Amino acid sequence: MEKEKLTALIGNCPIGRELAVKDVTDSTSLDVGRAAKSGASHGFVAVGEQQTAGRGRRGRYWVSPPGENIYFSLLLFPEFSADKAGMVTPVMAIAVARAAQKLGLAARIKWPNDVVIGSKKVCGILTELFFKEDGGFYLIIGTGINVNQKAVPDDIREKATSFWLENGKETDRERLLADVLHIFADFYERLERDGDLSGLKREYEALLVNINAPVKVLDPKEEWEGIALGIDNRGELLVRRSDGKVEAVYAGEVSVRGMYGYV
Ligand code: ATP
Repeated sequence: MEKEKLTALIGNCPIGRELAVKDVTDSTSLDVGRAAKSGASHGFVAVGEQQTAGRGRRGRYWVSPPGENIYFSLLLFPEFSADKAGMVTPVMAIAVARAAQKLGLAARIKWPNDVVIGSKKVCGILTELFFKEDGGFYLIIGTGINVNQKAVPDDIREKATSFWLENGKETDRERLLADVLHIFADFYERLERDGDLSGLKREYEALLVNINAPVKVLDPKEEWEGIALGIDNRGELLVRRSDGKVEAVYAGEVSVRGMYGYV
């Protein structure tokens, strides 16, 4: 990843104007966490060519080989309250799905935090919330996109793919990342203005792969099935149970699956 090229493409986008690019890092989200503690500001972005300890939700791992993909994390000091932190994951998912679609890929969103092509994942997003000593808070959004990866390791072969595996083309990673940041910045501005996802709900639902489809809700407390109807203004998934009752599912600990596979 060429920092100069990326900087030029980011231009005056408020997200990514402050940028750090490393060859190898443990995790770009840990980089942003360290930067936040030493005064980095809203919109700071850390990029890694390779992560040695890339993370997913609930302590899961993110496979992060060198040179082919995009791994980046972003620092946000939101104007909305901390209880709405979950709203930024859908915004990043829209940005990645839209940028992939501009390249001709049929990317959709699998609630809450994955971008998929067909039935496989090309992008994972992990949003983390940190409280400061003064009572304020910040968010770190970590995003991994499988871009030019030519082969997927055995342990994730069933559910992972890359842009290259889908279209056989080499994607310009700097252009793609700059595009994601520009799209994210536009939609994030909308989120800040509205204070919730009301203005982005239709956009998100148009990309949602599970919409109107049966899903299995993998809640650690109870596994259940229903029909996914869309999201509410906070990004919770609305699922109709067989008795007709509609429940809002909060992303925190929960994953969903299609009835017959990952999607
Ligand atoms: P799920 O995707 O199973 O619903 P999740 O949303 O909690 O669960 P994430 O935190 O998005 O999962 O990602 C971590 C999981 O994604 C890992 O447990 C692994 O199965 C899978 N994974 C790890 N690295 C990659 C990668 N580079 N591309 C696609 N999938 C990956």
